[in-house]
Amino acid sequence: MALETIDLIAGPSAPKRPLADAFARPITYLRVSVTDRCNLRCVYCMPEAGLPWIPNAEILSFDEIERIVRAAAAVGVRSIRLTGGEPLVRPDLPDLVRRLAAIDGIDDIALSTNGLLLADRVVELARAGLRRANISLDTLRPDRFEAIARRPGLERVLEAIDASLAAGLDPVKVNCVVMRGSNEDEIEAFAELTHDRPIFVRFIEMMPVLENAAAQRDAYVSADEIVERLGAIGTLRPDAGPPGNGPARYFRYAGAAGAVGVISPLSHDYCDTCNRVRLSANGRLRLCLFGDYEIDFRTHVRNGAGVDELAALFRGGMTIKPERHHLRLGEPASRMRALSEIGG
Ligand code: SAM
Ligand code: SF4
Repeated sequence: MALETIDLIAGPSAPKRPLADAFARPITYLRVSVTDRCNLRCVYCMPEAGLPWIPNAEILSFDEIERIVRAAAAVGVRSIRLTGGEPLVRPDLPDLVRRLAAIDGIDDIALSTNGLLLADRVVELARAGLRRANISLDTLRPDRFEAIARRPGLERVLEAIDASLAAGLDPVKVNCVVMRGSNEDEIEAFAELTHDRPIFVRFIEMMPVLENAAAQRDAYVSADEIVERLGAIGTLRPDAGPPGNGPARYFRYAGAAGAVGVISPLSHDYCDTCNRVRLSANGRLRLCLFGDYEIDFRTHVRNGAGVDELAALFRGGMTIKPERHHLRLGEPASRMRALSEIGG
Protein backbone atom coordinates (compact mmCIF):
# COMPACT_ATOMS: atom_id res chain seq x y z
CA MET A 1 0.00 0.00 0.00
CA ALA A 2 1.42 3.40 -0.97
CA LEU A 3 1.73 5.92 1.81
CA GLU A 4 -0.48 8.91 1.58
CA THR A 5 1.09 12.37 1.79
CA ILE A 6 -1.26 14.89 3.32
CA ASP A 7 -1.03 18.56 2.45
CA LEU A 8 -2.25 20.42 5.48
CA ILE A 9 -2.57 24.08 4.65
CA ALA A 10 -0.33 25.86 7.09
CA GLY A 11 -2.03 28.74 8.83
CA PRO A 12 -0.22 32.04 9.34
CA SER A 13 0.21 31.99 13.09
CA ALA A 14 0.35 29.24 15.65
CA PRO A 15 -1.28 29.61 19.05
CA LYS A 16 1.18 29.05 21.90
CA ARG A 17 -0.26 25.78 23.21
CA PRO A 18 2.13 22.85 23.66
CA LEU A 19 1.76 20.20 21.00
CA ALA A 20 -0.63 17.37 21.86
CA ASP A 21 -2.39 14.93 19.60
CA ALA A 22 -6.10 14.10 19.37
CA PHE A 23 -5.65 11.55 22.18
CA ALA A 24 -4.16 14.17 24.54
CA ARG A 25 -0.66 12.76 24.33
CA PRO A 26 1.91 15.58 24.63
CA ILE A 27 4.36 15.38 21.72
CA THR A 28 7.74 16.48 23.00
CA TYR A 29 10.14 14.30 21.05
CA LEU A 30 11.20 14.56 17.40
CA ARG A 31 13.38 11.97 15.69
CA VAL A 32 15.23 13.49 12.77
CA SER A 33 16.66 11.24 10.09
CA VAL A 34 19.56 13.07 8.49
CA THR A 35 20.17 10.48 5.76
CA ASP A 36 18.78 7.18 4.51
CA ARG A 37 22.30 5.99 3.53
CA CYS A 38 24.26 3.58 5.69
CA ASN A 39 27.74 2.09 5.90
CA LEU A 40 26.31 -1.24 7.12
CA ARG A 41 23.64 -3.53 5.73
CA CYS A 42 22.09 -5.18 8.79
CA VAL A 43 20.07 -8.18 7.69
CA TYR A 44 16.92 -7.06 9.52
CA CYS A 45 17.08 -3.54 8.15
CA MET A 46 18.05 -3.36 4.50
CA PRO A 47 19.03 -5.55 1.55
CA GLU A 48 22.70 -6.18 0.81
CA ALA A 49 22.49 -4.03 -2.32
CA GLY A 50 21.05 -1.15 -0.31
CA LEU A 51 17.73 0.61 -0.84
CA PRO A 52 16.64 2.86 -3.70
CA TRP A 53 18.32 5.86 -2.05
CA ILE A 54 16.62 9.22 -1.85
CA PRO A 55 18.23 11.54 -4.45
CA ASN A 56 20.68 14.01 -2.84
CA ALA A 57 18.65 17.00 -3.98
CA GLU A 58 15.71 15.76 -1.92
CA ILE A 59 17.64 15.34 1.32
CA LEU A 60 17.07 18.19 3.76
CA SER A 61 19.97 20.57 4.24
CA PHE A 62 21.04 21.50 7.77
CA ASP A 63 19.46 24.94 7.25
CA GLU A 64 16.15 23.26 6.45
CA ILE A 65 16.37 20.86 9.39
CA GLU A 66 17.21 23.76 11.69
CA ARG A 67 14.14 25.70 10.55
CA ILE A 68 11.85 22.71 11.08
CA VAL A 69 13.31 22.05 14.53
CA ARG A 70 12.82 25.72 15.48
CA ALA A 71 9.15 25.29 14.59
CA ALA A 72 8.97 22.02 16.55
CA ALA A 73 10.51 23.76 19.57
CA ALA A 74 7.95 26.54 19.26
CA VAL A 75 5.14 24.01 19.75
CA GLY A 76 6.72 22.21 22.70
CA VAL A 77 9.19 19.67 21.30
CA ARG A 78 12.07 19.50 23.78
CA SER A 79 14.04 16.49 22.74
CA ILE A 80 15.70 15.67 19.41
CA ARG A 81 17.24 12.39 18.30
CA LEU A 82 19.42 12.36 15.20
CA THR A 83 19.14 9.09 13.36
CA GLY A 84 19.12 7.60 9.86
CA GLY A 85 20.31 5.53 7.99
CA GLU A 86 23.62 6.15 9.66
CA PRO A 87 23.74 9.79 10.75
CA LEU A 88 27.54 9.89 10.96
CA VAL A 89 27.88 9.36 7.19
CA ARG A 90 27.12 13.09 7.11
CA PRO A 91 30.61 14.21 8.14
CA ASP A 92 29.52 17.67 9.28
CA LEU A 93 27.05 16.25 11.83
CA PRO A 94 28.65 18.15 14.77
CA ASP A 95 27.68 21.36 12.98
CA LEU A 96 24.02 20.29 12.99
CA VAL A 97 24.23 19.33 16.67
CA ARG A 98 25.66 22.78 17.47
CA ARG A 99 22.85 24.53 15.57
CA LEU A 100 20.08 22.49 17.17
CA ALA A 101 21.56 22.79 20.66
CA ALA A 102 21.37 26.57 20.31
CA ILE A 103 17.60 26.55 19.64
CA ASP A 104 15.52 27.96 22.46
CA GLY A 105 13.46 25.18 24.04
CA ILE A 106 15.56 22.26 22.81
CA ASP A 107 17.18 20.83 25.91
CA ASP A 108 18.15 17.34 24.85
CA ILE A 109 19.99 16.10 21.77
CA ALA A 110 20.65 12.40 21.31
CA LEU A 111 22.15 10.26 18.56
CA SER A 112 21.30 6.79 17.25
CA THR A 113 24.29 5.29 15.50
CA ASN A 114 25.84 2.01 14.50
CA GLY A 115 29.01 3.31 16.16
CA LEU A 116 31.35 2.65 13.26
CA LEU A 117 32.42 6.28 12.89
CA LEU A 118 31.67 7.45 16.41
CA ALA A 119 34.89 6.96 18.40
CA ASP A 120 36.78 9.63 16.42
CA ARG A 121 33.93 12.15 16.49
CA VAL A 122 32.42 11.75 19.91
CA VAL A 123 34.44 14.44 21.72
CA GLU A 124 33.57 16.95 19.00
CA LEU A 125 29.91 15.91 19.13
CA ALA A 126 29.80 16.21 22.93
CA ARG A 127 31.36 19.69 22.73
CA ALA A 128 28.73 20.64 20.16
CA GLY A 129 25.95 19.72 22.59
CA LEU A 130 25.26 16.01 22.15
CA ARG A 131 24.05 14.62 25.46
CA ARG A 132 23.51 10.93 24.87
CA ALA A 133 23.95 8.10 22.40
CA ASN A 134 22.27 4.85 21.45
CA ILE A 135 24.77 2.54 19.82
CA SER A 136 23.50 -0.48 17.92
CA LEU A 137 25.36 -3.72 18.45
CA ASP A 138 23.89 -7.17 17.85
CA THR A 139 26.84 -9.45 18.54
CA LEU A 140 30.16 -9.52 20.39
CA ARG A 141 31.71 -11.97 17.91
CA PRO A 142 33.64 -10.53 14.93
CA ASP A 143 32.60 -13.22 12.43
CA ARG A 144 28.98 -12.93 13.44
CA PHE A 145 29.14 -9.14 13.24
CA GLU A 146 30.15 -9.50 9.63
CA ALA A 147 27.30 -11.94 9.00
CA ILE A 148 24.64 -9.71 10.58
CA ALA A 149 25.90 -6.28 9.47
CA ARG A 150 27.33 -7.67 6.22
CA ARG A 151 30.46 -5.54 6.83
CA PRO A 152 33.26 -5.80 9.41
CA GLY A 153 33.55 -3.36 12.31
CA LEU A 154 33.01 -4.92 15.75
CA GLU A 155 36.20 -3.45 17.24
CA ARG A 156 35.25 0.05 16.16
CA VAL A 157 31.81 -0.25 17.74
CA LEU A 158 33.29 -1.49 21.03
CA GLU A 159 35.73 1.45 20.95
CA ALA A 160 32.80 3.79 20.33
CA ILE A 161 31.01 2.57 23.48
CA ASP A 162 34.02 3.27 25.69
CA ALA A 163 34.81 6.55 23.91
CA SER A 164 31.23 7.72 24.47
CA LEU A 165 31.47 6.98 28.20
CA ALA A 166 34.86 8.75 28.34
CA ALA A 167 33.40 11.78 26.54
CA GLY A 168 30.74 12.07 29.24
CA LEU A 169 27.69 11.09 27.21
CA ASP A 170 25.00 10.01 29.63
CA PRO A 171 23.27 7.71 29.22
CA VAL A 172 25.06 5.47 26.73
CA LYS A 173 22.66 2.77 25.55
CA VAL A 174 23.49 -0.31 23.52
CA ASN A 175 20.67 -1.59 21.30
CA CYS A 176 20.67 -5.27 20.40
CA VAL A 177 18.05 -6.76 18.05
CA VAL A 178 17.58 -10.36 19.21
CA MET A 179 17.22 -12.98 16.48
CA ARG A 180 16.51 -16.65 17.01
CA GLY A 181 19.09 -18.90 15.41
CA SER A 182 21.51 -15.99 15.10
CA ASN A 183 22.52 -14.00 18.20
CA GLU A 184 20.01 -15.22 20.82
CA ASP A 185 22.82 -17.19 22.49
CA GLU A 186 24.60 -13.91 23.31
CA ILE A 187 21.92 -12.42 25.58
CA GLU A 188 23.95 -13.45 28.63
CA ALA A 189 27.23 -12.04 27.24
CA PHE A 190 25.52 -8.71 26.53
CA ALA A 191 24.06 -8.66 30.02
CA GLU A 192 27.56 -9.11 31.42
CA LEU A 193 28.66 -5.86 29.79
CA THR A 194 26.52 -4.05 32.37
CA HIS A 195 28.48 -5.41 35.32
CA ASP A 196 31.39 -3.00 35.06
CA ARG A 197 30.16 -0.41 32.54
CA PRO A 198 27.48 2.18 33.37
CA ILE A 199 25.60 1.42 30.19
CA PHE A 200 22.04 0.40 29.41
CA VAL A 201 21.89 -2.68 27.20
CA ARG A 202 18.47 -2.90 25.55
CA PHE A 203 17.23 -6.00 23.80
CA ILE A 204 14.79 -5.21 20.98
CA GLU A 205 12.15 -7.44 19.44
CA MET A 206 12.78 -7.76 15.73
CA MET A 207 10.12 -5.94 13.74
CA PRO A 208 8.94 -6.93 10.28
CA VAL A 209 10.05 -4.33 7.76
CA LEU A 210 9.94 -4.43 4.01
CA GLU A 211 11.32 -7.67 2.59
CA ASN A 212 12.45 -9.17 5.92
CA ALA A 213 8.88 -10.16 6.90
CA ALA A 214 9.33 -13.88 6.26
CA ALA A 215 12.69 -14.07 8.06
CA GLN A 216 11.24 -12.03 10.92
CA ARG A 217 8.57 -14.64 11.63
CA ASP A 218 11.23 -17.30 12.25
CA ALA A 219 13.73 -15.04 14.01
CA TYR A 220 11.34 -13.22 16.35
CA VAL A 221 12.07 -13.62 20.08
CA SER A 222 9.61 -11.99 22.47
CA ALA A 223 10.65 -9.59 25.20
CA ASP A 224 9.08 -11.92 27.80
CA GLU A 225 11.35 -14.74 26.68
CA ILE A 226 14.36 -12.41 26.82
CA VAL A 227 13.49 -11.30 30.37
CA GLU A 228 13.11 -14.94 31.39
CA ARG A 229 16.60 -15.70 30.09
CA LEU A 230 18.04 -12.65 31.79
CA GLY A 231 16.43 -13.76 35.04
CA ALA A 232 18.10 -17.13 34.79
CA ILE A 233 21.57 -15.52 35.01
CA GLY A 234 21.05 -13.78 38.35
CA THR A 235 18.53 -11.88 40.43
CA LEU A 236 17.03 -9.05 38.40
CA ARG A 237 15.49 -6.05 40.09
CA PRO A 238 13.23 -3.64 38.19
CA ASP A 239 15.14 -0.41 37.51
CA ALA A 240 13.92 3.06 36.67
CA GLY A 241 16.38 3.27 33.78
CA PRO A 242 17.77 6.57 32.59
CA PRO A 243 15.71 9.72 33.18
CA GLY A 244 13.15 10.47 30.50
CA ASN A 245 13.57 7.01 29.08
CA GLY A 246 11.40 5.88 26.22
CA PRO A 247 9.58 2.62 25.85
CA ALA A 248 12.10 0.23 27.47
CA ARG A 249 11.49 -1.75 30.67
CA TYR A 250 14.71 -1.91 32.71
CA PHE A 251 16.23 -4.31 35.24
CA ARG A 252 19.51 -4.39 37.14
CA TYR A 253 21.67 -7.16 38.60
CA ALA A 254 22.90 -6.65 42.17
CA GLY A 255 26.06 -4.55 42.17
CA ALA A 256 25.97 -3.89 38.42
CA ALA A 257 27.20 -0.54 37.11
CA GLY A 258 24.65 -0.58 34.30
CA ALA A 259 21.25 -2.07 33.56
CA VAL A 260 19.51 -4.25 31.00
CA GLY A 261 16.22 -3.49 29.31
CA VAL A 262 13.75 -4.80 26.77
CA ILE A 263 11.87 -2.97 24.04
CA SER A 264 8.80 -4.78 22.84
CA PRO A 265 7.16 -3.00 19.91
CA LEU A 266 5.26 -6.16 19.00
CA SER A 267 4.37 -8.07 22.14
CA HIS A 268 3.57 -5.05 24.37
CA ASP A 269 3.26 -1.92 22.32
CA TYR A 270 3.77 1.45 23.99
CA CYS A 271 1.40 3.50 21.86
CA ASP A 272 -0.48 4.77 24.95
CA THR A 273 2.51 6.81 25.99
CA CYS A 274 3.77 7.72 22.53
CA ASN A 275 5.34 11.18 22.67
CA ARG A 276 7.10 11.23 19.31
CA VAL A 277 6.96 12.02 15.64
CA ARG A 278 9.60 11.44 12.98
CA LEU A 279 11.08 13.59 10.25
CA SER A 280 12.43 11.57 7.33
CA ALA A 281 15.60 12.54 5.50
CA ASN A 282 13.55 13.97 2.64
CA GLY A 283 11.44 16.12 4.92
CA ARG A 284 8.29 14.05 5.47
CA LEU A 285 6.84 14.13 8.95
CA ARG A 286 5.69 10.66 9.93
CA LEU A 287 3.18 10.64 12.71
CA CYS A 288 3.54 6.95 13.52
CA LEU A 289 6.34 4.53 12.67
CA PHE A 290 3.96 2.17 10.94
CA GLY A 291 1.19 4.61 10.11
CA ASP A 292 -0.15 5.41 6.68
CA TYR A 293 0.22 9.17 6.60
CA GLU A 294 3.06 11.62 6.31
CA ILE A 295 3.22 15.38 5.90
CA ASP A 296 5.44 17.01 3.32
CA PHE A 297 7.43 19.63 5.25
CA ARG A 298 10.12 19.91 2.57
CA THR A 299 7.89 21.57 0.00
CA HIS A 300 6.74 24.13 2.56
CA VAL A 301 10.30 24.80 3.72
CA ARG A 302 11.56 25.18 0.16
CA ASN A 303 8.67 27.50 -0.64
CA GLY A 304 9.97 29.78 2.10
CA ALA A 305 7.65 28.85 5.00
CA GLY A 306 8.76 30.50 8.23
CA VAL A 307 8.73 29.12 11.75
CA ASP A 308 5.10 30.12 12.48
CA GLU A 309 3.82 28.46 9.35
CA LEU A 310 5.77 25.28 10.04
CA ALA A 311 4.59 25.29 13.66
CA ALA A 312 1.00 25.39 12.39
CA LEU A 313 1.81 22.44 10.15
CA PHE A 314 3.00 20.47 13.20
CA ARG A 315 -0.29 21.28 14.93
CA GLY A 316 -2.26 20.15 11.90
CA GLY A 317 -0.31 16.89 11.92
CA MET A 318 -1.45 16.20 15.46
CA THR A 319 -5.05 15.90 14.29
CA ILE A 320 -4.14 12.87 12.18
CA LYS A 321 -1.63 11.11 14.43
CA PRO A 322 -3.12 7.64 14.85
CA GLU A 323 -3.92 6.30 18.29
CA ARG A 324 -1.74 3.24 17.81
CA HIS A 325 0.09 1.22 15.23
CA HIS A 326 -1.55 -2.00 14.23
CA LEU A 327 1.60 -3.93 13.68
CA ARG A 328 1.26 -7.33 15.23
CA LEU A 329 2.76 -10.65 14.39
CA GLY A 330 1.27 -11.78 11.11
CA GLU A 331 0.31 -8.31 9.91
CA PRO A 332 0.37 -8.11 6.09
CA ALA A 333 3.57 -6.61 4.72
CA SER A 334 1.92 -3.61 3.09
CA ARG A 335 2.45 -1.26 6.03
CA MET A 336 6.09 -2.11 6.44
CA ARG A 337 8.96 0.05 5.36
CA ALA A 338 12.63 0.03 6.25
CA LEU A 339 13.27 1.90 9.49
CA SER A 340 16.31 3.49 7.88
CA GLU A 341 14.03 5.08 5.35
CA ILE A 342 11.65 6.58 7.85
CA GLY A 343 14.01 7.47 10.65
CA GLY A 344 14.03 4.46 12.95
N1 SAM B 1 22.06 3.34 11.82
C1 SAM B 1 21.72 3.69 13.15
C2 SAM B 1 21.71 2.48 14.05
O1 SAM B 1 21.81 1.37 13.54
O2 SAM B 1 21.60 2.67 15.27
C3 SAM B 1 20.41 4.44 13.29
C4 SAM B 1 19.25 3.97 12.46
S1 SAM B 1 18.67 2.34 12.81
C5 SAM B 1 17.34 2.19 11.67
C6 SAM B 1 17.90 2.59 14.40
C7 SAM B 1 17.61 1.36 15.19
O3 SAM B 1 16.63 0.60 14.51
C8 SAM B 1 18.80 0.43 15.40
O4 SAM B 1 18.97 0.18 16.78
C9 SAM B 1 18.40 -0.84 14.69
O5 SAM B 1 18.91 -1.97 15.32
C10 SAM B 1 16.89 -0.76 14.74
N2 SAM B 1 16.22 -1.56 13.71
C11 SAM B 1 16.35 -1.50 12.37
N3 SAM B 1 15.55 -2.41 11.76
C12 SAM B 1 14.92 -3.08 12.76
C13 SAM B 1 13.98 -4.14 12.79
N4 SAM B 1 13.54 -4.73 11.69
N5 SAM B 1 13.52 -4.55 14.00
C14 SAM B 1 13.96 -3.97 15.15
N6 SAM B 1 14.84 -2.97 15.19
C15 SAM B 1 15.34 -2.53 14.01
FE1 SF4 C 1 22.38 0.79 8.92
FE2 SF4 C 1 21.30 1.13 11.32
FE3 SF4 C 1 19.95 -0.14 9.34
FE4 SF4 C 1 22.06 -1.33 10.43
S1 SF4 C 1 20.16 -0.78 11.50
S2 SF4 C 1 21.64 -1.16 8.21
S3 SF4 C 1 23.37 0.34 10.89
S4 SF4 C 1 20.53 1.98 9.38
